[in-house]
Amino acid sequence: MDHLKFHTDKLRVSGLRPTKQRLAICKILFSRKETFHFTIDQLKKIAEKNIKKKISLATLYNTVHAFEKKGYLKEISLKGNKTFFDTNTRSHHHFYDEETAQLTDIKNENIFINNFPKIPNGKKIKGIEITIKVASNYQKQKNN
Ligand SMILES: [Zn+2]
Repeated sequence: MDHLKFHTDKLRVSGLRPTKQRLAICKILFSRKETFHFTIDQLKKIAEKNIKKKISLATLYNTVHAFEKKGYLKEISLKGNKTFFDTNTRSHHHFYDEETAQLTDIKNENIFINNFPKIPNGKKIKGIEITIKVASNYQKQKNN
């Protein structure tokens, strides 16, 4: 299937000129069935591998941020200064593996919240997004 028009439109709507590099970025981000979580560095590696050319960080940043502004991507900031972007822009939860720095979606229906704090005066809830941090469960080996 040819998604060229789909990608070109997405770039134009975001105020970006559809260059070869940006189309390659679009293809990586929006041609997959599953949610894609990535950092700018990870995206750079994948994109450069795909088009076999260097892509400047500036191009990556301005493309990703333009998509984010338009609501096509969601930014997720985690501990440290790791910033992830998510192609699933709805409010949802994540597992975060601190060892591999990988995010995985958790379906909203798999988390129930049954005790809720009082919301500060004058505020409303914008969204509830839970990050569950995971690490390897190393079991000590017994010497027989
Ligand atoms: Zn996600």
